[in-house]
Amino acid sequence: MSEAEIGLIGLGTMGANLALNIAEKGHKVAVWNRTASRMKSFQADAGELADNIVACATPEELVAAIRPPRPVILMVPAGDPVDQQIEALRPLFEKGDIIVDGGNANFHDTERRVKELAASGIQLVGMGVSGGEEGARHGPSIMVGADKGAWLRIENILTDIAAKYEGEPCAAWLGTGGAGHFVKTIHNGIEYADMQMIAEIYGILRDGPGLSAGDIGAIFARWNDGRLNSYLIEITAEVLATPDGDNGVPLVDVIQDKAGQKGTGRWSVIEAAMLGVPATCIEAAVAARGLSALKKEREYASRRYPQTPRPPSATSVADLVAELESALLAGKIAAYAQGFAVMQAASAEHGWELPMATIARIWRAGCIIRSQLLDSIAKAYDAKPKTTNLMVAPAFVDMMTALHPALRITVGRAALQGLPTPALSAALAYFDGYRQPRGTANLIQGQRDFFGAHGFEKVGSRGKKHGEWKTAK
Ligand code: NDP
Repeated sequence: MSEAEIGLIGLGTMGANLALNIAEKGHKVAVWNRTASRMKSFQADAGELADNIVACATPEELVAAIRPPRPVILMVPAGDPVDQQIEALRPLFEKGDIIVDGGNANFHDTERRVKELAASGIQLVGMGVSGGEEGARHGPSIMVGADKGAWLRIENILTDIAAKYEGEPCAAWLGTGGAGHFVKTIHNGIEYADMQMIAEIYGILRDGPGLSAGDIGAIFARWNDGRLNSYLIEITAEVLATPDGDNGVPLVDVIQDKAGQKGTGRWSVIEAAMLGVPATCIEAAVAARGLSALKKEREYASRRYPQTPRPPSATSVADLVAELESALLAGKIAAYAQGFAVMQAASAEHGWELPMATIARIWRAGCIIRSQLLDSIAKAYDAKPKTTNLMVAPAFVDMMTALHPALRITVGRAALQGLPTPALSAALAYFDGYRQPRGTANLIQGQRDFFGAHGFEKVGSRGKKHGEWKTAK
């Protein structure tokens, strides 16, 4: 009885919600979970949607339940569990069947798996999914890397379950092999930068004028109605407004200031470094999470160094809030410019031809970094697909010209007050560095040639030259 259109393995947070989403859109989905008790509770919660769900007791049953060519989505933790499931499915699958890895895989693993499966004729689709639990259930953003034929087999299901932005599905084929997982990785890298900058602005308002969590939440709520409109600003307002169920104090005030991280932020930084593309806002955000985890060391160091004297804020709170809104938007633009530049470089390196405007479009709804800004980014890439850097796209030149003074003042004042703003500072340094016609690398080249005879190019002449450094000594 091969009646299901698609299969899904792994009914955890993401898998269970994706399966319900698929069933709700009218597609029959066969499901299997390693631990039977989880399957039971999933079935119990499925309600009417159970009609479109085929619950299977074994992977064999799951494969038998799907119409060939069979697509099976894996929603299991990245790494070994994915390899284990591929090994389990391999003998059950036939040529043309499709394994869709929907987890947060490292794109190098996806590329390896595509190659390993190629001889058997089994397709491996690397599918980045963003939107968390809620997105998985009601519409995530879906970034697909695959052979085009495999994409066409699953396209209708994925576009049905994806989030919609003004009716357009936020799911797209982005290229072959690891393209989808790479784009998801950079999505998460940008998410790290976005969250860090928001946290820095919160810190300035908390530790500068000493505003309460509730007051800061109200500011974010207001900002969400304007230029900063985005999911992360919206939830920040809600997080700041939420009281602790135990005693009514703002919950955020009693959460330990130690941030966790998994792999994708770090992978973004590694890939950017390997490509030689600056992604300093993402790097700063990843490093800030690392520093946050050193709680005991920070406490120790805080006793060794007296607090930096905090000069009073030069402006009123109202002026400060207006300035911070502009600074945050400027920082965000720089972070997105970096993320897109990394994707452009990776696209050339791996021959993916990543469609930048499409990526911006499928991030406009469903995913964690969805924001009004992405619509402007999509338009900029539509107007000029080969834009080298977002910061030189006309609409962004206008925005950065208007916004960067506020970023400058914010970073400068925070430094004087001893308030750390690593990601906002990185954004400002990137902006200033990117628009310098004459930088300082001439000195670095001189140093490199001095100690290592690495050579340099001389202004106005071609070919590698060396300095007569030894004679000069
Ligand atoms: P959960 O921990 O909630 O669920 C994991 C699922 O995988 C469970 O069903 C578990 O089964 C199964 N599983 C674990 N190990 C194996 C294995 N070796 N073989 C077979 N099944 C296994 O994870 P999530 O749903 O949160 O995440 C799944 C993937 O989606 C991850 O790659 C994650 O990074 C990614 N992701 C998560 C997001 C989120 O917001 N949570 C957002 C976007 C992507 P069992 O019941 O037997 O333990």
